[in-house]
Formats: sequence, structure tokens, C-alpha cells
Amino acid sequence: MKEGRDRFITESMGQCWHDYDIDKPINTYSLEAYICKKCKGFILGNNDFTIEEDFQRLWQWAKGQKDMEDLIARFNEASFKDKEEGTTYRNKFADAVYDYLKARR
Ligand SMILES: [Zn+2]
Repeated sequence: MKEGRDRFITESMGQCWHDYDIDKPINTYSLEAYICKKCKGFILGNNDFTIEEDFQRLWQWAKGQKDMEDLIARFNEASFKDKEEGTTYRNKFADAVYDYLKARR
């Protein structure tokens, strides 16, 4: 996980980069969850865009950004779901979005 990158992207998406005590989980059902000190939300953790579930939020958001059409066109959506290479492609896409957002500022 690249925390600096994932944090920057999450905040660019207008979402909270959660602040919580990793040492103080609340056990519910069999999940360890946390309460974010900033948004007071009940959370499982922060975005890790190499994980498919979190990645989908990034992908859907990026597809809604008019100025990211060219960037999106460089990737094949199916590759993100590839069992062996999916993580690599998700990582590459997150890096590309990060570079793009940094340059856009
Ligand atoms: Zn939060």
C-alpha cells in the first residue's frame, strides 16, 4: 500500500482520509472496525487502491471526470480483474491518476 498516494487520491475524490486508533478496534460481527475521529464514521480502514473493492470506487470516480478520458483510455478495464496481474494493473492506474492529479494542481 502506498499511503501517501492513496491519501492524496482519496482527498482529491472529496472523501475523508480517516484518522483512527489502529490499536482500538471495535469488534462487531467478526470484523474489526473503527470510528474515524474526523468524520465520526464507522469504518473498516482507509482506501488501498490495489485492493479490488477500493479500486472500484477510484475507477468509477475517474470515469466521471471529464478531463480523465485520455488517461482512462490507456487502460483496459478487464485487466483490473485479472487474477494474477490485477494488483499490478490497479497499482499502475492509481499511480497514473496520482501523477495526473499532482500535475493538475
Ligand atoms: Zn473519516
